[in-house]
Formats: sequence, C-alpha cells, structure tokens
Amino acid sequence: MQSTDLPLGIVRGEGACLYDENGRKYIDAISSWWVNIHGHAHPYIADKVYDQLKKMEHVIFAGFTHEPAVELAEKLLSILPGNQSKIFYSDNGSTAVEVALKMSLQYWNNQGITKNKILAFEHSYHGDTFGAMSVSGRSGFTKPFAGLLFDVIHIPPPVSGLKEESLSALTTAIANAENDIAAFIFEPLVLGAGGMLMYEAGELDELIALCRQKNILIIADEVMTGFGRTGKLFASAQLKNKPDIICLSKGITGGTMPLGATSCIEKIFNGFLSDDKAKTFFHGHSYTANPIACAAALASYDLLVNPVCGNNIKKITESHEGFIERNKANLFLKNIRSTGTILAMDFINNEQISYFNSLRDTLYNFFLSKGIILRPLGNTVYVMPPYCITEEELNAVYGAIETAGNVLY
Ligand SMILES: *Cc1c(COP(=O)(O)O)cnc(C)c1O
Repeated sequence: MQSTDLPLGIVRGEGACLYDENGRKYIDAISSWWVNIHGHAHPYIADKVYDQLKKMEHVIFAGFTHEPAVELAEKLLSILPGNQSKIFYSDNGSTAVEVALKMSLQYWNNQGITKNKILAFEHSYHGDTFGAMSVSGRSGFTKPFAGLLFDVIHIPPPVSGLKEESLSALTTAIANAENDIAAFIFEPLVLGAGGMLMYEAGELDELIALCRQKNILIIADEVMTGFGRTGKLFASAQLKNKPDIICLSKGITGGTMPLGATSCIEKIFNGFLSDDKAKTFFHGHSYTANPIACAAALASYDLLVNPVCGNNIKKITESHEGFIERNKANLFLKNIRSTGTILAMDFINNEQISYFNSLRDTLYNFFLSKGIILRPLGNTVYVMPPYCITEEELNAVYGAIETAGNVLY
C-alpha cells in the first residue's frame, strides 16, 4: 500500500475494452485476471443472469438442488474428457483445488489406505488458500507461510531443457515414496502465475503414465487453461492419459460470477459410497453452486460452443503465431512462446527472469499509458485476451509490445 499507485476506477466495460471514471478506454489484454472470455458486460450473459435473479438467487446446496446446477453439470460433462462423470461445485479456483486435494486424499483414506504425499511442479500456482499454496511451487508468494505448508514433492516441469530432469525427478520421487503418494497435481501445458512456462502434452503424458503404474491419482488444474484458452476446450483434451480429477474456475462463467467446479471419474465418486457416515466428503461452501453463477456459466457455455467463438480462438492463435514469426530477431524479446490464445515473452535486462524483476512496473505503466492493460509477471509479458478481441485491438496490443523495447532501454 505504501509503494503502489492508486488503483484505477473502472466504471464500464464492453467487448474487450474497459472505461475508467474519466472516460479513458483500455484494451483488457489479460481478460481481467484471465476470467473474461466473451467480453465485458456481455448482453446475453446479463440477460440470463437477470432471468435467474428474478426466479431464485440462492438456495442451500445440501439436501437441495436446482435446475441451473444440474444443467450446468450435464453441459460441463458433455465437453470435458469422456472419463469424467461427476461435478462437485465450490466458488473459486483455490477451492476447486482444495476440493481436488481433499477428494484424492480421502479417496485413499476411505479404503483404509494411508497416503499423505502430493506430487506437484516447481513454479506451479494452484491458488492462495493453504492447501493450494502448499502444492504450489515455493516462491515469494508462499514464503511468509513456509513453515506451515504441508510437505509436497516438487519436481521440475518438463519445459524445454528440463524434460530429462523432470522425468528422472519423478522416477526418484516414486522410488522413494512409492506407496505414500496420493496424487499428482499439475497445470496442463501452461504454468500460469509461475511465469507462463509452456510444455508439450507428450511430456506430461509420459509423467502421467509413470504415476498410473503406481496408482497415483491424476489431478489437472485447468482453472486457467479451461474453456478454450489453449486452443482446445480443455488442455486435457490434448492428453492421451486423461486426468482422474479436473479443477475448473476462471472462465467458467465468462468472468461474470465467482464459481468453482471439480470434476472426477466414477471410481473416485464410488470411493465415497458407504453406509458409514465418516466416509462422507465433508466439504461445502455457503455459496456452493450459486444459481446466479450457474446461470452465468450456462450462458457462457452457449457462447463458448457457438462456432463463432471457436473461430475467434483460432484467429487469436494464428495471430499470436504471426507475432512470434515477426519478432524472432527482436533484440529485447526472448523466449517468445504461445499455446492457443496465450502469448508470452520475456523482456531481457541484466536481472534474473523473476516476478520481482524491476522492469515490471516500467512495462506495466508504459502499456497503461498506451491504453492497454497488460500485467507483466516480473519481466514476463503475456497476452491472454477475451476471445472477442478485434484484429485491430489485438494489433494495438502487439504494437505496444513491439515498441516497448525501444522506449524502455
Ligand atoms: C488462478 C488460478 C487458481 C486460483 O483461482 P482463484 O479463483 O484465484 O482462487 C488456481 N489454479 C490456477 C492454475 C490458476 O491460474
């Protein structure tokens, strides 16, 4: 609070743009923290939310249910990988992860098997609650709580240059704790907050295959990658070895309402069926499956499966690839990479590539002065726009990035 600028007051949004209280326009090139996929104040979502508001705003989701939640579960299962069979609702990405972790640990516990370890990637980000922080990579975000986070086996993600290391770290981890590992959690294809680190589906498939041999449950945290971000509806669609549990949030409501969902395969659901009440999955939030959030998610689903959206995703993907081609020789930009609608690159200075790199504020303010919202992770700049962004707007974003180097150095 002492060193940051005052936040900007935003009063209105339309399409990929936001407007501040002085009427200034900004292109929201980061989808308002990666949640907005169809544009701001989308009239179709707004109408569906209003219709639901007039019918029922909320009801306890224990002992009661409602149509938007049931319909949404059916629709999600219709687009998730075919092995997924049940949906558990919560209300944000961190809780979707907590649910996945507790579900996998208790799944073993219910069978009288004690497994206390979780496998995860270094540099991963799974949320800000304690369980989610524990499985996240250790970083400046988690440092003040280091002593309180539970023990997790972290292995390097199989990004370029670390593929062998990742595989051998997993092999060692399994050899050392063979019967103690309950689950392996990862962000498929892109590690988001950890710096938009990208890797290939084939590498992950190999890691999953090793885990499967040892009965380790597979959790894909698709909170960021879900709903079209990586070019497919889910990053898991690109895997041969499908996850047992999938965490969803962010884009699920098109960025309109908070909502989390954790899907699982039938085997896990069945692991909780018992006459013994102690085997219940005791996890519920006051706003679990909030009907307004479900209505927003249903509206967002309609827009997502419309071919117009698929076409927009394809156009952004190709545009990003064009940017990479054009900037191969750009002296200021290194490691330019993309996965679907996510484009990322590192601005190089004499400091390490890190969240605390001093270029961050300079870049952030430069882009803002050009009417563009880009929120660098340290010196890593990424573009993750709403799918409705126009070609002209996207080119304005690219242009600002391409000129930034000349202005800053
Ligand atoms: C943002 C994010 C989360 C946490 O979601 P919140 O809704 O912010 O709690 C978890 N996992 C991944 C991969 C994320 O990007």
